[in-house]
Amino acid sequence: MTDEKAQTQEFKLDPDCELRFEVESKNEKVTLELKSGLAEVFGTELVKGKKYEFIAGAKVAVFTWQGCTVELVGKTDVSYVAKETPMGLYLNCHAAMERLREAAEKEDTRGPITMVVGPCDVGKSTLCRLLLNYAVRMGRRPIFVDLDVGQGHIAIPGTVGALLVERPSNVVDGFSQQAPLVFHFGHKTPQANVALYNLLVTRLAEVCSDRLQANKKARVSGIVINTCGWVKGDGYKLLTHAAQAFEVDAILVLDQERLYNELVRDMPDFVKVVFLPKSGGVVERSQAQRTEARDQGVREYFYGSRTPLYPHSFEVKWSEARLYKIGAPVLPASCMPLGMKAEDNLTKLVAVTPGPNLLHHLLSVSFADSPEDDVVQTNVAGFVCVTNVDVDRQTFTVLSPQPRPLPNTVLLLSDIQFMDSH
Ligand code: ADP
Repeated sequence: MTDEKAQTQEFKLDPDCELRFEVESKNEKVTLELKSGLAEVFGTELVKGKKYEFIAGAKVAVFTWQGCTVELVGKTDVSYVAKETPMGLYLNCHAAMERLREAAEKEDTRGPITMVVGPCDVGKSTLCRLLLNYAVRMGRRPIFVDLDVGQGHIAIPGTVGALLVERPSNVVDGFSQQAPLVFHFGHKTPQANVALYNLLVTRLAEVCSDRLQANKKARVSGIVINTCGWVKGDGYKLLTHAAQAFEVDAILVLDQERLYNELVRDMPDFVKVVFLPKSGGVVERSQAQRTEARDQGVREYFYGSRTPLYPHSFEVKWSEARLYKIGAPVLPASCMPLGMKAEDNLTKLVAVTPGPNLLHHLLSVSFADSPEDDVVQTNVAGFVCVTNVDVDRQTFTVLSPQPRPLPNTVLLLSDIQFMDSH
């Protein structure tokens, strides 16, 4: 907070209204407090009298079904009350999913598998969060799958993952990320390696299906899947592939009628395709803000957000690390060994020689014990970031959430870089 006297704003909200606010300026903090009535932030109920602190970059909606009074302390860049929201429609989706869960419970089958699609910045992640929160508040235990490798909310950018949701998301920090299942992709857009992306989506779908089999509560609750905003051309094909891999029952299409019509045309009849308007509150992000959000995601992985984390820094000898990337350049078919498709190269494990090229790159620490295992389709234990490379001593320094030594030495190089400015 600056030296200026803290700014206090009080808002009285009628039923079905929301207060939207943004915190833009760096080092600025805004505290939200529910004074009376009932309200929620993206599906998580606010506790009356509790102070929720938001920092720069926060774009928040406080919605009330019953009416409430809330207070904001601090400098907001935008703050207004909206009467028009699509929350009623979103709640209907939740209600329809809940009916399917009740049926699944009775017949001992699986609950709804719902995929949320749409272009960038239409509130896909927010809708997933809302549906998951409403489900857990009803005592369900749904799985959240995030296929958005650019702005994902499980682990860090450049990965796809799944998470069993056992409690509502934290109002400020989102879902708790205990024991997520994460696969290394290594790029910030699926465009960089479509073959690998599809392979990982298929793998993730298999693992999720196994988890549903093994856990009745999760099985009945079903899955909510978030996707990338790349919806044209090859991006569209990725969506239909994901729908098939996860055997989705419903696709919620946010904002884009063209995409809705294409999916109605191409999906089998048993897949329900639903068009939903986006909320007027969803804020479009510039390329710079998107990059900043990605950096923020990585920073939080290492340093925490509200509760600070203290990462470790240590040296790794080149000779100790077994370093790989996924995907070699595609060769013309005539150059491929007999029986191999050109595309196979894109999902191949390729050894990487350590050197200055590693600097600032993120590395995924694989659960695979050896490169002879199926490393590409094995999930990862965590991530480190290379903060220094010493060519003379043949070592590199990593930032790591855990102290030395690395839990495993099969490391996967990501395209994504992170400048550690701490
Ligand atoms: P997408 O996943 O489609 O890219 P997000 O769900 O991440 O979009 O939403 C983009 C931004 O808009 C997020 O910062 C989110 O917090 C914000 N946002 C979403 N819904 C609202 C709303 N109703 N009011 C204010 N901000 C919102």
